[in-house]
Amino acid sequence: MKYIIGNWKCNPETVAEAKKILNGYAKGIKKNAKVKAVVCPPFCYLGLAKEMLKGAAALGGQDCHWEAKGAFTGEVSAPQLAGMGCGYVIIGHSERRQKFGETDEMINKKVKAALAAGLAPIFCCGETREERIDGKITDIAEIQIKEGLKDIDLDTAPVIIAYEPVWAIGTGTACSPEEAQVVHQFIINITNEKIPLLYGGSVDSKNAVSYLQNAGYSGLLVGGASLDPKEFAGIVEAVKII
Ligand code: PEP
Repeated sequence: MKYIIGNWKCNPETVAEAKKILNGYAKGIKKNAKVKAVVCPPFCYLGLAKEMLKGAAALGGQDCHWEAKGAFTGEVSAPQLAGMGCGYVIIGHSERRQKFGETDEMINKKVKAALAAGLAPIFCCGETREERIDGKITDIAEIQIKEGLKDIDLDTAPVIIAYEPVWAIGTGTACSPEEAQVVHQFIINITNEKIPLLYGGSVDSKNAVSYLQNAGYSGLLVGGASLDPKEFAGIVEAVKII
C-alpha cells in the first residue's frame, strides 16, 4: 500500500476555503486499492472533512496530547481524534519540534498515546540544513527514531515514519531522490522493511513519483501542495501506476 498524506498545517484561514478544498478532494481523488489518501486538516475542520470527503480520503490529526483527557487547555487527545473519525495522527513534525519545543521524550509519549487510541502515528524525523552541512544527515534521523519510538515494537505497531529534511519543507527545494534514498536505506536498516516509510519536503505532482520509483519510499507527506486539490489528486493519480 502507498500512502499520500496531506498536511494542511494551520490552513486555510476560513471555513469557506476549507469547504472549497474538501469539495475538490471529494470530486478529484479517485479511489483505488493501491493508494491510501489521507488528509490531516486543522482540528476545527475535522468534522467538516469527515462529512464532505465522503470516503475520498481518510482522516488524520496533526498532533495529539499524550493524556487521554484532563486539564490541558488547548490540547486535543488521541481518543478524541479517533472519536472524530481519524485513523492517523502526525507526530513530531519539525514545526512542532522547532516552534513549540517538542522533545523526543514528549514525542515518544504522544506516539504511545496514539497507538493506545488505535491511531497510526505518522512519526516525522529529519535534519536541518545546518545539521546536513555538518554531515549529520542520518545521525539526526537515528537519534529521533531511537528516542521518539523508544519501547515500541516496530514489528507489530502500525507506525508510519516520514523522513522530512527540515531544509526541504515549504522551501520549494526538495531533497533529490538520490539523497533521499540514502536516508531511506539507513532507516530501513535501523527499523525494518515492513514499516511504511514516507518522504516529505516540497513534494508536488511533478517530483512525486521519483521518491517512490527511484528512492524506494512507500509514500509521501505533502504540505503546501495538499492545499490545492488538483495537485493533491494529481499526486495520488501519479503514484498509483507504480
Ligand atoms: C510538511 O509540512 O510536512 C511538508 C512536507 O510541507 P511541504 O510539502 O510544503 O514542504
